[in-house]
Amino acid sequence: MFEQLSAAPADPILGLTEAFKKDTRTGKINLGVGIYKDEAGTTPILSCVKKAEEQLLSQETTKSYLSIEGTPEYGLGVQRLLFGSDSDIISAGRARSAHAPGGTGALRVCAEFIARHLPSKRIWVSNPTWANHGNVFKAAGLEVVTYDYYDAEAKDKDFAAMKNSLQQVAAGDTVLFHGCCHNPTGIDPTAEEWEELARLSAAGGWLPLFDFAYQGFGKGIEEDAAGLRIFAEHNPELLIASSFSKNFGLYNERVGGFTLVARDATQADNAFSQVKSIIRANYSNPPFHGGGIVTTVLNNASLYAEWEKEVAEMRDRIQGMRDLFVDTLKEKGVSQDFSFISRQCGMFSFSGLNPDQVKRLKDEFAIYIVGSGRISVAGMTRNNMDALCSAIAQV
Ligand code: PLP
Repeated sequence: MFEQLSAAPADPILGLTEAFKKDTRTGKINLGVGIYKDEAGTTPILSCVKKAEEQLLSQETTKSYLSIEGTPEYGLGVQRLLFGSDSDIISAGRARSAHAPGGTGALRVCAEFIARHLPSKRIWVSNPTWANHGNVFKAAGLEVVTYDYYDAEAKDKDFAAMKNSLQQVAAGDTVLFHGCCHNPTGIDPTAEEWEELARLSAAGGWLPLFDFAYQGFGKGIEEDAAGLRIFAEHNPELLIASSFSKNFGLYNERVGGFTLVARDATQADNAFSQVKSIIRANYSNPPFHGGGIVTTVLNNASLYAEWEKEVAEMRDRIQGMRDLFVDTLKEKGVSQDFSFISRQCGMFSFSGLNPDQVKRLKDEFAIYIVGSGRISVAGMTRNNMDALCSAIAQV
C-alpha cells in the first residue's frame, strides 16, 4: 500500500527548526519558530507554573477522564481572560468553552464546527497570516479566502485596503482576526479601527473568529483583549480560539480553548452540544495537566500576580530586543530604515529581507529565518545581537 506514496513537503516553520537542530555550526541563531527565549537563549518554565505543578502533584487523587469540554473551572478561567471577570457575557451564560489541545486544536474544532453546522463554509483570513491557518481550515473542508492587510512597501497595515476587501464578505461567512500581536506582521488594528471593523461585521452579518494566541505579549493581559471585547459589544455571536502556549510557556502541554458566544444561554447550549460531538469524535476529551496548571494559577491571587509579572518580563524583553535590533543595525551602517520593527509588537515582524538574503543568512551565517522574511524577535538576545546584525549588514 505505501510504496505509492511520496514524501509530504516539510512544514515551512517546523522544517526550519529541524534543519537548525542538525546544523553543527557554533553561534547559530534561530529566528524561525515562535518560541519565547530568555536572555540565555532558553525557553524557561515560568516560576508560577512550577509552583502550580507542585500543588497539583501533591493534591491530585485521580487520573480519571475529564468531561468532553474539560473542567468547568478551566472554561471559566478562559472566559474571564477573554471577556473580563465581570463580563455580562459570562453572567448571562452566553459563552461556552472547551479545553482544546493548544490553539491549533481549538482552531481545528472550530473549523469542523463551521464546516459541519453553519451555512457558509467560507472563511476569510488576512493576507498574510499564520502559515498553519490554511492547513487547518482546508483540512476541515473550509474554503479559505484572503483579505488585504499589509502594505509591504510602507511596512505597515493597509486599513483602507483591508476594509475594501472585506466588503466582499457575504453574510454568514467567517472572518478570522488575530486578537493581538498579528502573526506574521506584528501590526494590530487600533481601538478605533477595531470599533469600525466590529460595526462592519455586525452590519454585514459576518461571523467573527478571533485567534488569540498571544494575550499579554502586546500591551498587557487585559489591554490585549480590547479588540475582542469591542467586537463582543457589537456582535451577538463570536468564536474564539485561544492558547496558553506562549503566555504560560506551556508549549508542550497543549493548552488552548475553543469558546463560542451565542445570543442567549439556550442557543449557546445547543451550539456547544454540537462542538462536544466534534471533540468526542476527534480526541474524546482533553488531557488534564496543562489546564490544571492554568486553572491553579488563575484562581490563586499570589500566583496570578506572579504570572502577570512574568508575562510582563517576556513582553518587555521582546520589546527591548526590537529597539536594540534597530539601533544595532544602524550602528553596523545599515542605511535601510528598520525603525518599523520598534513600532510593531509581539513575537514577529516582517523584516523585509528577501528570499536570497534569507538563504545567504542560513548558508553563510547559520541564521535561520522563514523564507517570507518573518523574524521571531523572541529569538534575539543581547549575546547574539551583534553577530545577527553584522550578518544582516553583510547580506
Ligand atoms: N495561532 C497563531 C496565530 C499562532 O501563531 C499559533 C502558534 O504559533 C497558534 C495559533 C497555535 O498555538 P498552539 O501552539 O497553542 O497550538
